[in-house]
Amino acid sequence: MAKMTIRDLDLKGKRVLMRVDFNVPLTDDLKVSDDTRIRAALPTINYALENSAKVILMSHLGRPKGNIMDNLRLDSVRGRLSELLGQEVKKVDSCIGQDAKDASDGLIEGEVLLLENVRFYTEETANDPKFAKELSLLGDLFINDAFGSSHRAHASVVGVADYLPAAAGLLLMKEIEYFEKILRDPEHPFYAILGGAKVSDKIEVIKNLLNVADKILIGGGMAYTFLKARGVEIGSSKLEEDKIELARELMALAENKGKKIVLPLDHIVVEEIKDGARVEKVGLEIPKGKIAVDIGEETRELFKEELKDAKMVVWNGPLGIFEIEDFSYGTREIAEFLAKVEAVKVIGGGDTAACIEKMDMVDKFSHISTGGGASLEYLEGKVLPGIAALKERQDG
Ligand code: ADP
Ligand code: MG
Repeated sequence: MAKMTIRDLDLKGKRVLMRVDFNVPLTDDLKVSDDTRIRAALPTINYALENSAKVILMSHLGRPKGNIMDNLRLDSVRGRLSELLGQEVKKVDSCIGQDAKDASDGLIEGEVLLLENVRFYTEETANDPKFAKELSLLGDLFINDAFGSSHRAHASVVGVADYLPAAAGLLLMKEIEYFEKILRDPEHPFYAILGGAKVSDKIEVIKNLLNVADKILIGGGMAYTFLKARGVEIGSSKLEEDKIELARELMALAENKGKKIVLPLDHIVVEEIKDGARVEKVGLEIPKGKIAVDIGEETRELFKEELKDAKMVVWNGPLGIFEIEDFSYGTREIAEFLAKVEAVKVIGGGDTAACIEKMDMVDKFSHISTGGGASLEYLEGKVLPGIAALKERQDG
């Protein structure tokens, strides 16, 4: 766990080089269509500004793969950030070199400079030490506040920490605190809800959570591979044929550990996955040709019963194809139920977070992780390189 945070550093007059995650969706005319990630970085930026720092921000946007792409420049991010901060944010069209250096040196206390998309440089994803060193020339201190990028060993996330005093920003700290609580010191009973598209994406998450959670509820696309492994007919529902054996092993592992795995009892099915498809309710067995797109009503009641005494819940993966309104009610019903349960409730996973936002229930949960891939890797028990880099810096 990163020991040092931005609060432990004297920021006055310092150039604070900060990695943030401004990888936001853009509209066709390149406007920021969802500024959640920008807003998530505001507490740390404001904290630095209130403490008389000069702030230099680094972020990636999309996957330019080392090419300069005009549609992936950070200009509209600069505009939105200026609005949110209520002050003009400066920007340069590069990340290293004389222009960037001059702009950084020219800042006065309380000013903010945004560098260009770091992934315009191939050296970023290669974690090239020379590039990291050049980035480091723009700051006196390095702050990582980009939880959503911390599972990547990239120059602006990891490399820079070799050259500057480094610490975690407030958002990164908040993420670390929740995930450490889940993995090291959960409140019991602690239940995990896992759903989403595929078993293969979540194998390590299931294994690792079996060490700490008291019970795992499984829904969504991956439930059908588990049901198949129990010998249940699943019609044409999502199946990973080559993961049936693994599903069986995971269920055996759970049993050995005395942990319950709860699977759906009934389903909402269609003949074709499309908006407006005729939905049908079926019991445990799914008829030939039918595709399960949501958990059924009995399952919703069962899940609520299984969750009602929770003191802590982590939820990753929607329980149905929530992108289509008619298939989203199972997920919504469970979310609405959890809203009323007094427990520490954490949402991980990009689609699950988007789903909770879409349902306008963000404030009903203790923490919605800002990192999709990063939150999964954390739940898998992996050490995220961006966090490890801060730790190494502080230990050594
Ligand atoms: P996260 O990003 O939160 O980790 P995933 O990417 O694993 O979640 O899963 C999200 C996807 O799972 C959604 O696009 C959703 O449509 C899909 N999904 C949920 N239930 C089903 C189902 N029954 N069949 C097929 N796909 C499903
Ligand atoms: Mg996803």
